[in-house]
Amino acid sequence: MSSRGNDEMKYVTFNDGNGHVVGALSKDGAVVYPLAQLGFDFKTMVELIEGYSPEVEKDIEAKLERAANGLSIDAATLAAPIPQPAHDIICLGSNYVAHAKEGPSYRGRENEYVLPEKATYFTKRVNPAVAHGESVPAHVDITSSLDYEAELAVVIGKRADHVSKEDAYNYIFGYTILNDVTAREIQRGHGGQYFFGKSLDGFTPMGPCIATISEFSSPPDLDIKCRVNGELRQDSNTRDLIFDIAHVISDLSQGIALDPGDIIATGTPSGVGMGFTPPKFLNVGDIVECEIEGIGILANPIV
Ligand code: MG
Repeated sequence: MSSRGNDEMKYVTFNDGNGHVVGALSKDGAVVYPLAQLGFDFKTMVELIEGYSPEVEKDIEAKLERAANGLSIDAATLAAPIPQPAHDIICLGSNYVAHAKEGPSYRGRENEYVLPEKATYFTKRVNPAVAHGESVPAHVDITSSLDYEAELAVVIGKRADHVSKEDAYNYIFGYTILNDVTAREIQRGHGGQYFFGKSLDGFTPMGPCIATISEFSSPPDLDIKCRVNGELRQDSNTRDLIFDIAHVISDLSQGIALDPGDIIATGTPSGVGMGFTPPKFLNVGDIVECEIEGIGILANPIV
């Protein structure tokens, strides 16, 4: 098993001219094959997730190896892997130590950080998710502190209700990349409630694909980076999560049943814009690239 995720199956949602369809990527990621062309009747990513099993994966993999006449990924109009999730994204706040110190530091209270005993959860509205390559609106009329947060996002594979930590990875379909775009002054300005500042229209870029969990180590040990206009801002590894994925799924599922296609964004490492002195917030015209080893690159211009 590779812990670096080079052999897992990758699925995308794209527009074939008539609407959204789901496709499997070739091993080199260069070609996409619509699942219908491979003989599978999964019309949406969530249908694929609900119908998925190791046998289905093997079957798709075998048909992919013999497939011809796919579409070049560069010619495909990608959508977010799950363009309109049924539920809001569940997000982790302050889940990497170095990043958790950036918030207090930004507010001039750098000595206030203590390692938390319980995870911080909030949700992010998705209306709808932004695809790789699509624009993120800057909302300049209401914010001047637009920020990026590269995050590993977990895509739930089957209904998870009272799941143990030991069993948690069996409930995961795969991983994608999410940019938890944030308007910092709105995040701080509404009674400390993150919801509004994290949920403006277009604030949830996600993609480019979902990589299935099968070939990743558990917990995943993946380099995570963010670049703005080519400048490396975030550079960490998912092994540094304070509350790991098994903990989060088990913890939440004691009181909230998670459904197939639900998405959990696991938090961002240090190097966000507010972490610099002076802060390096996003401006119109910037290009933000979030990259996670074994999944790909999620790039979005700010407009
Ligand atoms: Mg975040």
